[in-house]
Amino acid sequence: MEDDCIFCKIIKGEIPAEKVYEDDNFIGILDINPESEGHTLIFPKKHFESFLDMPSSLGSEFVDAIKKVSLGLVREGKAKGFNIVFNVYKVAGQEVPHVHAHIIPRKSDDGCKLKLVGGLRDKKMRSLK
Ligand code: 5GP
Ligand code: ZN
Repeated sequence: MEDDCIFCKIIKGEIPAEKVYEDDNFIGILDINPESEGHTLIFPKKHFESFLDMPSSLGSEFVDAIKKVSLGLVREGKAKGFNIVFNVYKVAGQEVPHVHAHIIPRKSDDGCKLKLVGGLRDKKMRSLK
């Protein structure tokens, strides 16, 4: 746990979040600023700064959690496909330094124009102003 980490605070219940998934080592919450309806963030309960800092031994459990949430969204008719994204380090757009996967549900003609890949969020938002 890192004292000043938003996601550690969510895990501890110090910051509210809409939890959509939980198992022994991972949690899934809805993104506060979604790219599409159902945009979910999956992250380990233990703090690791990024995908590269997380032990590979957690990898298959991480994949399982991502698959369970994604398949649930398909079953509920909320997605026909996904963009599954890891931003790794600040230069690539990682704003929260606690490893997380973005699950972004997609449907045909959903009008979703991803802004988070490659750290372009701020730049794109600025260019839209
Ligand atoms: P990153 O840029 O680190 O890959 O993505 C971090 C994501 O966390 C962003 O999409 C952002 O909207 C989301 N986020 C940041 N703070 C909070 C929060 O307090 N609650 C929730 N639910 N999502 C957050
Ligand atoms: Zn953390």
